[in-house]
Amino acid sequence: MRIASLNEAALIEELPALYELLLTDLRVGELLDERAEIDDGSGKEADLARAEARLAEAEEQLTTRRASQIDLRLERDGLKERRERDQHRLWQEAPSVHEAEALQANLQASALRLDEIATQLLDLDNRIEPLEHQREDEQRTRDELQAELSVVQANFAEQVKGIDAELRELHARRQAQVVTIAPVLLARYELIRSRRGDPGLVRVDGDTCEACHTQLTNYMQRMLQTGQRVQQCENCNTILYWVGEARRPQWDEELDGEELVVDDSGDE
Ligand SMILES: [Zn+2]
Repeated sequence: MRIASLNEAALIEELPALYELLLTDLRVGELLDERAEIDDGSGKEADLARAEARLAEAEEQLTTRRASQIDLRLERDGLKERRERDQHRLWQEAPSVHEAEALQANLQASALRLDEIATQLLDLDNRIEPLEHQREDEQRTRDELQAELSVVQANFAEQVKGIDAELRELHARRQAQVVTIAPVLLARYELIRSRRGDPGLVRVDGDTCEACHTQLTNYMQRMLQTGQRVQQCENCNTILYWVGEARRPQWDEELDGEELVVDDSGDE
């Protein structure tokens, strides 16, 4: 703690550099917010995925129903041919009584089956037609969404180009800035920023902390004015960067050893 007071006085000299870092960080924050506001098309991508799923579902149903349609038509055509043959044999080929009975039973069975098939085919027609409309609708929706998505994505790429270039620049600037700041001060600043969503550092030239807008105690104001060590707001913990008038410490402030001890052990 005895050497700490020396270091802390030196840390005050680094506050302007820390303030420059803060400006960089604030700009990065602004740009990231701005970037997050720009539509990257993810909402439309989800719409498109849903439209494609509906289209695939309609197509699958159509395929299944058309396959049934083909099977039934083949069966129907086969039955019709067989009926032709049965009729022919019954009337033209003078079958025996036993044969004639069998042929008539066949004709009766095939007639019943043909009725069934006709009903089933009608039912399939009734289902296929709306499915075809649905598929056309889904195709149109998908095509529209695809077109809209490419526009949104192209706009996004165009709009973030400038932002991303500036972010890269700021990143490089930040890396150059952090090496000029004492690690202990930098770590404190970053901890405050991350923990509280606070700026981390605030410039003060009066009696108010500009981060939390509370009034500073007279004691804190004297500490800031005499500039012996880095101070943090007693209310919000933000590092206070004094840019107001400086004044010489009085003997009791200079020798305020107890305060140093308490703060050093309590803060770490
Ligand atoms: Zn504050």
